[in-house]
Amino acid sequence: MITGSTKLLGVIGYPVEHSLSPMMHNAAIAQMGINYLYVPLPVKPENLADAMRGFEAIGLVGFNATIPHKQAIIPLLTSVSDLAQAVGAVNTVCRTEQGWMGTNTDVQGFLAPLQGITRDWANAEVVVLGNGGAARAVVAGCAQLGVGHVHVVGRQLEKVQAFQTSWHESPLKVAISAHGWNAIDALLPNASLIVNTTPIGMYPHGNASPLSQHQLAKLSPGAIAYDLIYTPRPTQFLQDAQAVGAIALDGLEMLVQQGAAALELWTQQPAPVNIMRATLEQHLAQRMGH
Ligand code: NAP
Repeated sequence: MITGSTKLLGVIGYPVEHSLSPMMHNAAIAQMGINYLYVPLPVKPENLADAMRGFEAIGLVGFNATIPHKQAIIPLLTSVSDLAQAVGAVNTVCRTEQGWMGTNTDVQGFLAPLQGITRDWANAEVVVLGNGGAARAVVAGCAQLGVGHVHVVGRQLEKVQAFQTSWHESPLKVAISAHGWNAIDALLPNASLIVNTTPIGMYPHGNASPLSQHQLAKLSPGAIAYDLIYTPRPTQFLQDAQAVGAIALDGLEMLVQQGAAALELWTQQPAPVNIMRATLEQHLAQRMGH
């Protein structure tokens, strides 16, 4: 029940209507029995600084940032965690006595489903498809795992090279190389993990895949195929990878775990991860008509 002392959380984005975070967080809040409310906050890029002053004025406890604010918000924050600085993006903001503190829980979210799989990461090669914001969290996660080498593959070689260069100054140490899309066939046989960070294959384009079945057949048995997309479940990419013996991971757990990590920062209480996961699974199954 919303009362006079309900505390506010939210997500800023533009657009923000598609966000599953309000549903996930409010289910968690209900389970925790705490007096919070998590709301969608549509903020146009040009209004970000004004919105932040408004959040300060009304005492918002914290918020998530999604596209297009993940990078733009950094100069408006009082402090930014080392990890968020290394990633170059903030997805979680907390109000502190000193001011707004930004961090990045996507890295933790990305790593969560890999934690249960034993791998010799120091000798592993990872192939990352795409070089956008999510790819940055993936590379930071690979650095934390101590991955031997990360190959980033993109459709615009200059952008991939700029992405690679940006890691040279980072405190996170990672061996990284940049490739055009045509390098994929040669990289796949040695990949322990391949991560799709492009939107190819996302609903409503569920028949599309970043790689052909023929290409995925080059994966070694036991390789991990990880798609950051969570709708449809599974994606074509994951279906095809599973058909050649790969371990398939989709993006739902990353979404759940980045949210749980944020909620724990705001409330200083354990987040009910199972409720958050079940809420999203139920919603996505309904949306896909199952
Ligand atoms: P982004 O910053 O826009 O990056 C998208 C990347 O995909 C860019 O490198 C882009 O290439 C590439 N790309 C797009 N279309 C392509 C195509 N047809 N062929 C080859 N490459 C293509 O987006 P993002 O924020 O990184 O998000 C990417 C995906 O990750 C989305 O599907 C998003 O839903 C998912 N995601 C999931 C989670 C989760 O919690 N599970 C979290 C974050 C993101 P160019 O650079 O050449 O344009």
